Amino acid sequence: MSNYKSRKLSTIKNINYSFGDKKTKSDAFTLNQVHGSDVVIVDKVPDNNIIISGDSIITNVKNFSIGVKTADCLPILLTDKNSSFVGAVHAGWRGTFYKIICKTINKIGDNFNVNPKDIIAVIGPSIANCCFEVGEDLYKRFIKNFPNFKSCFLQDEFKKKIDLKRINYLLLEEMGVREVEILNECTKCNPNFYSYRRDKSKSQNQISKINLN
Ligand SMILES: [Zn+2]
Repeated sequence: MSNYKSRKLSTIKNINYSFGDKKTKSDAFTLNQVHGSDVVIVDKVPDNNIIISGDSIITNVKNFSIGVKTADCLPILLTDKNSSFVGAVHAGWRGTFYKIICKTINKIGDNFNVNPKDIIAVIGPSIANCCFEVGEDLYKRFIKNFPNFKSCFLQDEFKKKIDLKRINYLLLEEMGVREVEILNECTKCNPNFYSYRRDKSKSQNQISKINLN
């Protein structure tokens, strides 16, 4: 386990989880992430070397570790009070804009018969509102897409910033998820993490992972 602990996930029995940093080993099944909003359900351990594209993965297979790789984007780990499933979501600004977290909550309900009020969602280390500065066009598109989320938009005369963690938090609340936690670490501010914006590298990222025991 890494140092980035979730108060809520740590109370759930029968799961292991880890929000990774530069030192975390990438030993979990991950999707070919494409900054889209497709949710993949895995109901048996995939064959070796199989490539499945998507940005959200959910499973109820035991002893099968799933993860998402990020470097500023948000890793969101999910389970429920009865640990009947686990999920890992990659939500960058595109995934946030297209509400991948809402699609994930709907698929969990459809496939695992879990009520949103029993779901636990934790938003991990990722670029925070201190650092996610955007241009005028994207800022306007976001405000139009999320007109009720005024607290997520921060601007002064020089900069426009979007709070992606808080948008996902509010979307989860709207979906009826009551147990939502944000880990505040900012990947751009903290050198223990890879940061796309700071390092300008698309190949380096950390993994966040979760599994049912
Ligand atoms: Zn920051």
